[in-house]
Amino acid sequence: MTVQIDTQRTIDLLTQLVQIDSVNPSLVSDGSGEGEIASFVHSVLCDAGVEATLEQVLPGRPNVIGRMPGTGEGSTLLLNAHLDTVSVAGMEDPFSARISDGKLYGRGAWDTKAGLAAGLSVLLALADEKVSLPGGLVLLGAIDEEHGSEGTQAFLNDAEVDGCIILEPTSLDLWVAHGGFAWGEIETKGVAAHGSLPDVGVDAITKMGHILHQAEGLRQRLRLTRSFEPPLGGETMLPSLHASTIEGGREWSSYPDRCLLRLERRMIPGETQQDVEREMDELLSGLARNDPQLRASWRFSMVRPPWQAEKGPLFTALETACRAQLGHAPGRSAGLMWTDAALTQQAGIPTVIIGPKGDGKHAVVEYVELDSVVTCARILLDTALRFCPQSR
Ligand SMILES: [Zn+2]
Repeated sequence: MTVQIDTQRTIDLLTQLVQIDSVNPSLVSDGSGEGEIASFVHSVLCDAGVEATLEQVLPGRPNVIGRMPGTGEGSTLLLNAHLDTVSVAGMEDPFSARISDGKLYGRGAWDTKAGLAAGLSVLLALADEKVSLPGGLVLLGAIDEEHGSEGTQAFLNDAEVDGCIILEPTSLDLWVAHGGFAWGEIETKGVAAHGSLPDVGVDAITKMGHILHQAEGLRQRLRLTRSFEPPLGGETMLPSLHASTIEGGREWSSYPDRCLLRLERRMIPGETQQDVEREMDELLSGLARNDPQLRASWRFSMVRPPWQAEKGPLFTALETACRAQLGHAPGRSAGLMWTDAALTQQAGIPTVIIGPKGDGKHAVVEYVELDSVVTCARILLDTALRFCPQSR
């Protein structure tokens, strides 16, 4: 039996995926969402004779799932690529899927439709040859990874898989650790008053200025005092904190009665939601001790845990497949990005992350190197052929 990735079909699939607008509507209010791209993937799978379903997660926003059941007691592998993209603001021709010099351009080309095309190609290659593995192979096209990860969370409610490969733009490195994040909102309350009444008005924006100043101090302390060395290699990780948006005030001549700051705290492995809670409480209570007029509160709007890879059968299978297909050991990398790997691993599924090579994720010029998409597909196929026969 020879199962082979069809190079031209992989490129054609990627072209079609990039040509479909799938901007996440939770990020951009008029974003098209994942409905059309999910239907496209669904029809590609059905045409190839692969069992496929669309599962509504949010209105008009379904996950698409392809399943190739195993023939025996082998391990089931999940290939997970998100369907959504970030906004196309500032891009010249985001859905052209123009190919030039071996690179395919467009929003989502690298993040992560190339990974999706590679995963899809693996299922099609097996279907072409009517090969069934001892364990199952599942492809999840997940909605909403760029915002609230509703797609992967919904899938995990009843997932029965033994390992997961998250397909993200890693440039064919293995990502071995990534950050978590906490999105917080701080609100200061002032007293609205005419600008001519300084004894009455309390300026909520200036109060927030004091908080911002403290937050900058906290950021510097965090980066000097905390770090994480991923045991499987890759870069040293430091935590971070930054302001995201700020709003407040009504007009020139009035004391502002409210100011709202949104901020993001990126966490390194080992840090938890409780650590961030403590920092926020201490920051505000420290200021309040010296300023009886300060009325400030904070809350989380979303928290996602950090992630680190663990050695095990899937990690070994993927690394061995990389060596076989690349001719050398893959690089190992770590950083403060976030992926759905944190959710799958939290659900008890050993998870690894890999994807093709390119540049410009979330930027105005995004591309993927086509060779690397095909190589990625070969690595995934090779990994499945090594992992799925192993007993659970
Ligand atoms: Zn992504």
